[in-house]
Amino acid sequence: HNHLVMSEKLFKVIIIGDPTVGKTSFVQRYVQDTYRRDYKGTVGVDFALKIIKWSETQTVKLQLWDIAGQERFTWMTRVYFKDAHGCIIMFDLTNKNSFQNTLRWKKDVDSKCMLPDGSPIPCMLLANKCDLAERQVDQMEIETFYKDHDFIGWTETSAKEGLMVADAMRFLVEVMLRQS
Ligand code: GDP
Ligand code: MG
Repeated sequence: HNHLVMSEKLFKVIIIGDPTVGKTSFVQRYVQDTYRRDYKGTVGVDFALKIIKWSETQTVKLQLWDIAGQERFTWMTRVYFKDAHGCIIMFDLTNKNSFQNTLRWKKDVDSKCMLPDGSPIPCMLLANKCDLAERQVDQMEIETFYKDHDFIGWTETSAKEGLMVADAMRFLVEVMLRQS
């Protein structure tokens, strides 16, 4: 008799960034592989569950927390950040301001959540809408920025075209598995 020891991990992942950068579109693309142009502005928090058969013996369940705009953010921050294992901070490549604001989001995360051992939770920086031509943020600038501010990595994504969506999540899961 061969007994495989099955392991299942549940990770809470929070998705944050300025309104309209594509957070909801990203989650929908990742979880359902669909894209719609007209997601109603999220009210409160949307939850999505993604189950990944990581290996013969390892299942990973991701609970994705998709937040509404900043206005609603303040009163629910504690609950929102509580016990998060990982984080996606997203900006829109065609909106410089959304890139600059990622620093505030990162500081917010680092001040409000940490892993049980006290270290910061892994954060991935995503530059969304890479399918669009009118960019306002330079690649070299992002490259310097993500290192300076302790993101685990960054990549361009397109929720619209489904570019680098699963890859970005896979990278984050690898880090979370290593740290769990
Ligand atoms: P959220 O407010 O961050 O959740 O952003 P949404 O997912 O609601 O998207 C805001 C707008 O950007 C919508 O019109 C989306 O269709 C559009 N959008 C989202 N992701 C992309 C993308 O990768 N490329 C393009 N061109 N548009 C996108
Ligand atoms: Mg949304």
